[in-house]
Amino acid sequence: MKIFCVANQKGGVGKTTTTVNLAAGLAKIGQRVLMVDLDPQGNATMGSAVDKRKLELSVYDVLLESASIAEARVVSDKCGYHVLGANRDLAGAEVELVQLEQRDQRLKNALAQVKTEYDFVLIDCPPSLSMLTLNGLCSAHGVIVPMQCEYFALEGLTDLVNTIKQVHANLNPDLQIIGLLRVMFDPRITLQQQVSDQLKAHFGDKVFNTVIPRNVRLAEAPSYGLPGVVFDASAKGSAAYVDFANEMVERIQRMP
Ligand code: ADP
Ligand code: MG
Repeated sequence: MKIFCVANQKGGVGKTTTTVNLAAGLAKIGQRVLMVDLDPQGNATMGSAVDKRKLELSVYDVLLESASIAEARVVSDKCGYHVLGANRDLAGAEVELVQLEQRDQRLKNALAQVKTEYDFVLIDCPPSLSMLTLNGLCSAHGVIVPMQCEYFALEGLTDLVNTIKQVHANLNPDLQIIGLLRVMFDPRITLQQQVSDQLKAHFGDKVFNTVIPRNVRLAEAPSYGLPGVVFDASAKGSAAYVDFANEMVERIQRMP
């Protein structure tokens, strides 16, 4: 079982879209997937055909050790993967965790109990470096960083790269950046092409080969409570996420 955080401190960069579509893409090619929503907004939960308002147990209960993952997960039949969901309850976890022991290791410990059940765990992180994100980073083998090829993209990466280095040095020696994923890409925009070239020059093979295009079907899918890959498999953006799923399967075969 390999565990990946989808993280970037910026909001609106495509974290949730990447998490649910990669999960659906991996499920489509036969991988056993658990999607963990670590964002109190619960967008990844809703976008996986699971109603966050009707959750009896959620990732909040798992972090506070009042439920196991086996108890709290939900099967998303439509999407083909399991969901450890989130809702507003999770916003309180931050404060409650502060007083507890091993507060940054809670998710890691819980995931250890289901390690034979999944090939991939994908964690959708909130747009901050909170105790929630830290729980994600402490449990993961790697980080997938979705980014738009815009002017300030590289600058924003510095903070994230430094945080990952710190977590790697102090808390989780397994942690590495698996790769940067170019999302919402529009090749007609010269600047995007330039930033994309810069990224490759700077980060080399840490940049995934797959590029996710800007695609309206991916943006429409959440209003139907589905990943684009499930909502409209024929859309360009959906096909790109299935390509990305294949690339991830190849990558983990090369991981220690
Ligand atoms: P984050 O989780 O980082 O805040 P989201 O995944 O919610 O970002 O994406 C932000 C917005 O961009 C959403 O409205 C989403 O539907 C849209 N979006 C994400 N990826 C694409 C894409 N490849 N093409 C078009 N719209 C996209
Ligand atoms: Mg999000």
